[in-house]
Amino acid sequence: MLKGTIVKGIGGFYYVNTGCGVYECRARGKFRLEKVTPTVGDFVEISVIDENGRKGSLDVIFARRNELIRPRVSNVDQAAIVFAAKSPALNPDLLDRFIILAERQKLDVIICINKIDIDKSEKYKDIAEIYTKSGFKVIPLSAEEGTNIDLLREELNGKISVFAGPSGVGKSSLLNAVNPMLGLNTGEISAKIERGKHTTRHAELMEIFDGSFIVDSPGFTSLFLDDIEKDELQYYFREFRPYIGNCRFSGCSHIHEPECAVKAHVGGRINEMRYNRYVNIYDELSNERKK
Ligand code: GDP
Ligand code: ZN
Repeated sequence: MLKGTIVKGIGGFYYVNTGCGVYECRARGKFRLEKVTPTVGDFVEISVIDENGRKGSLDVIFARRNELIRPRVSNVDQAAIVFAAKSPALNPDLLDRFIILAERQKLDVIICINKIDIDKSEKYKDIAEIYTKSGFKVIPLSAEEGTNIDLLREELNGKISVFAGPSGVGKSSLLNAVNPMLGLNTGEISAKIERGKHTTRHAELMEIFDGSFIVDSPGFTSLFLDDIEKDELQYYFREFRPYIGNCRFSGCSHIHEPECAVKAHVGGRINEMRYNRYVNIYDELSNERKK
């Protein structure tokens, strides 16, 4: 008996990383009867059938902490949302949309601001402060100079993380900095497209260092806000949460209503720009409905 994590599933085979080798496993028939589909990210128990050939049978799937739908992965702990301090410029609207997606999937969020080495004006510090005050963990980084890579490594240790963020912000560079053995392609777009072609459309886990995984999926970089109900949006702005429910009106949208407990804190505990983006996205979602 060995325990491990499913890192890949192809054509009825599940590849289980046990910490001492990856075993190719078939799932026992009982899972089909129970209508349980083994999923990348599942923590499982296997029995070894052929030690030399690294083949086994998947016997037990332990209870899942959560399940992401797009990409389909279970037990993801957190989202590392990566932006660059400069080049490309940090776009807070896009950052908030990534946060909304992560909050919605109940993932912990770490905001990574990379390329601080080229932000001589240190403008990133203002952004970092806004998000720290809003209740997020923010790590300013430089993959180039190795700044705070140890902190990032600590956050990733022993967890399953998704790396999200626009292209060119340094996601691959940060992973290479965390573990130079990974040798991921960086920079040149052509090389990356090449890599993209070869990766399956299914999610896989990549072990970045012992027992620490990232979801390797082209899927998580796109933004699906389309299926969010406007009334749930408020819960994805974590700094609103202490005040939701204290408004005069129970269905308060926190926009036009009088005696709104959320609005009362805008400019104080709630950052005004974050609040304005809530209003914009709320309007967007309301308009989608009308279409
Ligand atoms: P990805 O698309 O998010 O994976 O970004 P890459 O890791 O491919 O990096 C995009 C470009 O930014 C590459 O040319 C990197 O060399 C550069 N880059 C990445 N991290 C840093 C950094 O910390 N500082 C600077 N100055 N450039 C960086
Ligand atoms: Zn309100």
